[in-house]
Amino acid sequence: MAGKEGKKKLERYLDDYSFSESSRIRKDGERIWIPELFCHNGHSLMVYGVRFDGLPAIHVRVEVGGEGGPVEDYYLSPIINDPRKEGKDLPEGTHMRLCCPVCKEELRQLVPCSCRVGAYRRAVYLSTDPGELGAVGICEIYGCPQSFVTEDGELLYEVVVEHG
Ligand SMILES: [Zn+2]
Ligand SMILES: [Zn+2]
Repeated sequence: MAGKEGKKKLERYLDDYSFSESSRIRKDGERIWIPELFCHNGHSLMVYGVRFDGLPAIHVRVEVGGEGGPVEDYYLSPIINDPRKEGKDLPEGTHMRLCCPVCKEELRQLVPCSCRVGAYRRAVYLSTDPGELGAVGICEIYGCPQSFVTEDGELLYEVVVEHG
């Protein structure tokens, strides 16, 4: 999943983030991960039945191809820059309508993704209040690893694919 067109790399924008046992972003060793994520309506997306290295997965409901498409469940790793996920394999580049599995609403649109014209990163939030501006942006294109993490409106991490 490293992308055949470019090299994937993790940008870190803040070296002095104060990781703790209650911070919204956690770190142990080299592993940076997120313990809790929510939809814009405050529903928890974490599930314990699927785990990545012992950590609960992020559950996202997908309508394949767009609104009204076949519904699939995906479980994403909560570890930053970890492309692992569980769910049906789709052709690279498939558009996914990313939804909350509880309220079924489409996740909010954040910023465009450079992988495709018209592609957007969608928001899952670090807290139950989207107004706190802490979010993970995940791309709605299957196979695109470009994601980012913000807290208090500040960009902390970004996974980018370098072309060239
Ligand atoms: Zn919801
Ligand atoms: Zn993308």
